[in-house]
Amino acid sequence: MFYVKKKIANGVEINIDIEYDNVYTHCPECGVEHMIDIAEFANEDLDIESTEIYCEKCSESLRANTESGEK
Ligand SMILES: [Zn+2]
Repeated sequence: MFYVKKKIANGVEINIDIEYDNVYTHCPECGVEHMIDIAEFANEDLDIESTEIYCEKCSESLRANTESGEK
Protein backbone atom coordinates (compact mmCIF):
# COMPACT_ATOMS: atom_id res chain seq x y z
CA MET A 1 0.00 0.00 0.00
CA PHE A 2 1.28 3.43 -0.95
CA TYR A 3 -0.12 6.77 -0.01
CA VAL A 4 0.27 10.43 -0.83
CA LYS A 5 1.38 12.61 2.04
CA LYS A 6 1.24 16.38 1.81
CA LYS A 7 1.38 19.20 4.28
CA ILE A 8 -1.37 21.59 3.22
CA ALA A 9 -1.17 24.04 6.12
CA ASN A 10 0.52 24.43 9.46
CA GLY A 11 -0.19 21.25 11.34
CA VAL A 12 -2.51 19.99 8.63
CA GLU A 13 -1.34 17.04 6.67
CA ILE A 14 -3.21 14.81 4.29
CA ASN A 15 -2.55 11.13 3.78
CA ILE A 16 -4.37 9.53 0.90
CA ASP A 17 -4.07 5.89 0.00
CA ILE A 18 -3.21 5.31 -3.62
CA GLU A 19 -5.70 2.87 -5.01
CA TYR A 20 -6.31 1.49 -8.44
CA ASP A 21 -9.19 3.87 -9.01
CA ASN A 22 -8.04 7.16 -7.53
CA VAL A 23 -5.03 8.14 -9.61
CA TYR A 24 -5.79 10.83 -12.15
CA THR A 25 -3.93 12.94 -14.65
CA HIS A 26 -4.70 15.59 -17.23
CA CYS A 27 -4.50 14.78 -20.92
CA PRO A 28 -1.66 16.85 -22.44
CA GLU A 29 -3.70 17.22 -25.64
CA CYS A 30 -7.20 18.28 -24.57
CA GLY A 31 -6.66 18.85 -20.86
CA VAL A 32 -9.43 16.55 -19.74
CA GLU A 33 -9.02 14.89 -16.37
CA HIS A 34 -8.94 11.15 -16.65
CA MET A 35 -8.21 8.19 -14.47
CA ILE A 36 -5.08 6.20 -15.17
CA ASP A 37 -4.62 2.54 -14.54
CA ILE A 38 -1.67 2.64 -12.17
CA ALA A 39 -1.32 -1.13 -12.44
CA GLU A 40 -0.36 -0.67 -16.07
CA PHE A 41 2.75 1.23 -15.02
CA ALA A 42 3.69 -0.77 -11.96
CA ASN A 43 6.38 -2.69 -13.77
CA GLU A 44 7.65 0.10 -15.97
CA ASP A 45 10.21 2.78 -15.36
CA LEU A 46 7.78 5.56 -14.75
CA ASP A 47 8.81 9.12 -14.17
CA ILE A 48 5.72 10.28 -12.31
CA GLU A 49 6.62 13.94 -12.64
CA SER A 50 7.13 14.09 -16.38
CA THR A 51 5.05 11.29 -17.82
CA GLU A 52 2.10 12.52 -19.85
CA ILE A 53 -0.77 10.19 -20.51
CA TYR A 54 -3.32 10.98 -23.17
CA CYS A 55 -6.99 10.37 -22.58
CA GLU A 56 -8.69 7.55 -24.41
CA LYS A 57 -10.11 9.82 -27.08
CA CYS A 58 -6.78 11.51 -27.90
CA SER A 59 -4.90 8.20 -27.77
CA GLU A 60 -7.29 6.88 -30.36
CA SER A 61 -6.95 9.84 -32.71
CA LEU A 62 -3.16 9.82 -32.24
CA ARG A 63 -3.12 6.15 -33.14
CA ALA A 64 -5.34 6.79 -36.15
CA ASN A 65 -3.08 9.64 -37.28
CA THR A 66 0.04 7.53 -36.91
CA GLU A 67 -1.49 4.66 -38.83
CA SER A 68 -2.72 6.84 -41.70
CA GLY A 69 0.60 8.71 -41.71
CA GLU A 70 2.53 5.52 -42.34
CA LYS A 71 0.75 4.83 -45.60
ZN1 LIG B 1 -7.38 14.16 -24.55
